Amino acid sequence: MAEDPKDWQLETRLVRGGMARTEYGEISEALFLTQSFAYESAAAANARFAGAAPGFIYQRFGNPTTQMFEDRLALLEGAEACRATSSGMSAVQVALSGLVRAGDHIVAGRALFGSCRWIVAEWLPRFGVETTFVDAVEPSEWRNAVRPNTKAFLVESPANPLLEVTPIGAVADIAKEIGAKLVVDNVFATPIYQKPLALGADVVVYSATKHIDGQGRVLGGAILAGAKLIDEAYRDILRHTGPALSPFNSWVLLKGLETLELRVRRQTENAARVADAIAAHSKVRKVVYCGRPDHPQAGIVANQMSGGGNVVAFDLGDQAAAWRFLDALQIVDISNNLGDAKSMATHPWTTTHRSMPEADRLEIGLTDGWVRMSVGLEAAQDLTRDVERALDAA
Ligand SMILES: *Cc1c(COP(=O)(O)O)cnc(C)c1O
Repeated sequence: MAEDPKDWQLETRLVRGGMARTEYGEISEALFLTQSFAYESAAAANARFAGAAPGFIYQRFGNPTTQMFEDRLALLEGAEACRATSSGMSAVQVALSGLVRAGDHIVAGRALFGSCRWIVAEWLPRFGVETTFVDAVEPSEWRNAVRPNTKAFLVESPANPLLEVTPIGAVADIAKEIGAKLVVDNVFATPIYQKPLALGADVVVYSATKHIDGQGRVLGGAILAGAKLIDEAYRDILRHTGPALSPFNSWVLLKGLETLELRVRRQTENAARVADAIAAHSKVRKVVYCGRPDHPQAGIVANQMSGGGNVVAFDLGDQAAAWRFLDALQIVDISNNLGDAKSMATHPWTTTHRSMPEADRLEIGLTDGWVRMSVGLEAAQDLTRDVERALDAA
């Protein structure tokens, strides 16, 4: 009997899922840097364009290397279908705009990655889509925000930068009841620790730029959902508006997936040690980490996540202290990315969240003393030493 990849464990899926070998029997996935494809006859071209025969047509529609990445990620997520995009933001943009028309309404968690918030607050309203932001942690807030024209919910959980966790199953139930689709941005949890589709979500989006690349090289994104939804809501937008992922980036991201589980688990072990060291320091007012029992939604974390992830947020009281901390770091870089092998820390107030109106920042609890750290793969003892020294200097 032939092996069914769906029976494979996570680690096997990550290394071998989606592999489609050419006649040469290459072990590493082939990189198909080709824009278009030749047909053996005019009739064959006709059949392919009509959708009556399988095969590739043009890089904007699909590519063999990109399809291997899509198939591997779909297998990992347990999704029927996956479409790769040029960045996490093009994934979010397409995932939402495929679900709404002028006159429709979206409800979104108010704590979101800055660009995701801009799409909901500024971009979609230009096309007649109404939006409401809610405290995503409270299912009653979602229910109260619903209108007759609500077509989509957007959740980021854990959310950037203060790691609020939304009960995805409860919000999915409300979405189902009213006939809206729930889109979950699963970047912070990674596909290793949280499966939004299994919790009831309709669509999952990733910035593959983060943990999936994991070594800070390329941009990429993905939309995962049922095959019917991908076909009806997203196929044509992806074909005709052009957010295709470069085959080279797909090839880099396929390599990233092979080691995703190893890297994310090690980053999580490191993050737990760093979070404990931060929590124990007298200069720190508050630390938030999904792997600690004092996380504000620790109960929800336990229900829906199988690991704490690699991001830690902590409050040093004011901007001057946060900047002194950052400037005293010797190993950890000052940078706004996350999920990289290299540890990095940022001051959200003056970087990632500076374009968010001040009142909105304060509403999500983001004051100017917070630092967000993405913990990498360096030795935990070197990281805790660097962080403790910088906290002394803060
Ligand atoms: C980085 C990020 C994005 C955007 O991804 P890009 O690949 O940078 O476009 C979206 N959502 C979250 C939660 C992110 O961390």
